[in-house]
Amino acid sequence: MSSSKVGIFFVVDNEVLFDAVSVQQGERCDNFIEHGGHYDFWDKLKPSNVIEQIFKDRAYDAYPRGRIVYFIREQKFRLYADTCLNSNDLKLVKEVFGIRNAVRTKDEHYQCASCNLDFMD
Ligand SMILES: [Zn+2]
Repeated sequence: MSSSKVGIFFVVDNEVLFDAVSVQQGERCDNFIEHGGHYDFWDKLKPSNVIEQIFKDRAYDAYPRGRIVYFIREQKFRLYADTCLNSNDLKLVKEVFGIRNAVRTKDEHYQCASCNLDFMD
């Protein structure tokens, strides 16, 4: 678990953009540890490559996103993600966060422009 991370991510054209810290450095709330915010990440990002520029050019919630949270009592990671992300996308995400196993959990908060019928750019 020492190298495993918690935080937030976006998947943009098969690349993972993320803000992650080790579990030890995460923010503890009750029974879980998390880190970061999707809007904050987008807001503060100064694009330094094409993918980041593509991402920044649209609203913060235009691309599929999710979060990895560590649950203390259960000693388990949970992966909250947009339902449109496929197993390849999630494999990349787990690699980036240094996690082998995570319980996938649907969360209707995390909907991209394609999944969210009410989305406006
Ligand atoms: Zn989606």
